[in-house]
Amino acid sequence: MIFMKIKKVVLKQFGFNFVARYADDNPAADSLSNGEIVIVGNKDYQKWAYLKCPCGCGSTTMLSLSTKRRPSWQVYMNWMMILTVYPSVRDISTCYSHYWIKRGKVYWCRDTGIPFTEYTEDKDG
Ligand SMILES: [Zn+2]
Repeated sequence: MIFMKIKKVVLKQFGFNFVARYADDNPAADSLSNGEIVIVGNKDYQKWAYLKCPCGCGSTTMLSLSTKRRPSWQVYMNWMMILTVYPSVRDISTCYSHYWIKRGKVYWCRDTGIPFTEYTEDKDG
């Protein structure tokens, strides 16, 4: 755990917004810290990704990584647990944040903050 903390501090200095860790079970919402993506599962089988919305609204975002569910996302991690999430993440109930996570960094979409219903799926590239 101390190692995790040190790693996180180091990563922040290099401008990373997120670093991932694995968990066996779904984490409680209050156990998530900002800048952390909790992957439920292991290297071979990933079920869910949990993260705090990077806009700072405090809501917890859950992404299904199971290919059996729709929608589902894919995560790619390197050895330092720096991850890329595909496709983009969109909050459809709280703050309407819309962003990509690429190599641990958040890239905001132009339509972030705009309620989802005003746009059609194919418009948001
Ligand atoms: Zn938010």
